[in-house]
Amino acid sequence: MPEKQKINILWFGNDLRIRDNESLFNVMQEDLPFLALYIFDETFFCSAPLGFKKIGKFRAQFLLDTVLDLNSNLNQKNIPFLKKIGRTQDVFNQISGQFEIEKIFCQSEWTQEEVVLYNKIKRILPGVKWVKSYSQLLLQPNYVADKVDEIPLLFTNFRQKIEKDFKIRNEFDCEHLVNRRPNLDLQIESDDITLKTLGFDDFEVHQSTAFPFSGGETAAIQRLNAYLFETKNLSCYKETRNGLIGEDYSSKFSAWLANGSLSAVSIFHEIKKYESKFGYNESTYWLVFELLWRDFFKYTSMRFRDKIFLKVGILERDVQFKFDQNLVNEWINGETNSDFINANMLEIKNTGWMSNRGRQNVASYFCKILKQEWRIGAAYFEEMLIDYDVHSNYGNWMYLAGVGNDPRSRIFNAEKQAEQYDPNHKFRNLWLQ
Ligand code: FAD
Repeated sequence: MPEKQKINILWFGNDLRIRDNESLFNVMQEDLPFLALYIFDETFFCSAPLGFKKIGKFRAQFLLDTVLDLNSNLNQKNIPFLKKIGRTQDVFNQISGQFEIEKIFCQSEWTQEEVVLYNKIKRILPGVKWVKSYSQLLLQPNYVADKVDEIPLLFTNFRQKIEKDFKIRNEFDCEHLVNRRPNLDLQIESDDITLKTLGFDDFEVHQSTAFPFSGGETAAIQRLNAYLFETKNLSCYKETRNGLIGEDYSSKFSAWLANGSLSAVSIFHEIKKYESKFGYNESTYWLVFELLWRDFFKYTSMRFRDKIFLKVGILERDVQFKFDQNLVNEWINGETNSDFINANMLEIKNTGWMSNRGRQNVASYFCKILKQEWRIGAAYFEEMLIDYDVHSNYGNWMYLAGVGNDPRSRIFNAEKQAEQYDPNHKFRNLWLQ
């Protein structure tokens, strides 16, 4: 039998970008030819145990846009790209039928489902070497390890230690890289994947959505430029960030950050450029502060691993939750006793988006007023959110349920919050009428 050609695989996950992509940078330093790969794993498009899908139509559409954009950006760099739908391990098996895979370059993930996936691949390809990157984080793990022995439970303790002589790595310079290796004679075809293939009907974007953006790195960089340099909205971020209506009260970077079409490190360096041009103020600082929250939840899940999925959370606190399907349905459908909660829940149902202010209120209401188990709410968010990120979603839900990084058991008063953040009922009227 003729020897199989040796190749490396650049396996895209939640790092769907060219700019500042450590795995792309690393695979380009090797002599071997390589294949870029993205798999829509079918298990993520089925219903999960709590009855919600793991990915709903809003994020599915955003992901399709993202992969399409990545495909065209990789083409420009002469990088062969394979896009498949199926079980991840089957796709790797198929590729290894034609090629001998030497190394897999990918982003490091440490949460349950992703680790299970790695193990399935390791079982069928035991000899393959793995090169994993941590470029989803703003702060590099070795920098954090130098500053703290253990990730603290409280964000303030984390931030204060980290912020002292703050160092963020440079971006990986991938934009100028072009693949000059000979073409691969790939005998596997990419699949044609649409919303229908993923199990959804086409839909219209809601006219009142606060997130009217497309997926993909191109749209992410447009948004980054628009929010910073074109509108200078960054300079008033601290005053507007608790808003509820429209595109510009906050950065809206989360959805691109979640699937990695934009990196937190790129945002950080753009903020620094902005500050040197237009000046530093509390708002420019505050966006970095929020990116630290994002890292904090990632480092928390790195420390506590699968505990973030337990009812008792990382505090191992046995809070008594009830289960009432009618109350859960009323919450989902915006039919509770609070018009502020209802407006927010109708927003997420119709658009896949909700503001941070809204998320805090509806999650607190679900856990503390309706007394329903937080993981049901978290699973609903997981299906619906365009910007779903396992660490931020489960971290924030645990926090509000009183089993996470906040040992105090705080309750948001939805009526007071509505008075403060929606005094003239504009937001409520938008979704309730
Ligand atoms: P901005 O206000 O512009 O903030 C900039 C960035 O900072 C965000 O893009 C995000 O990456 C980060 N950030 C801001 N607030 C938080 C926070 N509380 N926790 C972690 N990171 C933060 N965010 C997600 O990205 N994915 C989720 O699945 C998610 N689920 C959430 C669930 C609940 C119950 C709550 C209360 C919050 C959740 N968040 C989640 C955090 C936050 O609501 C969103 O990141 C934010 O609303 C996104 O809008 P933005 O990009 O305009 O944020």
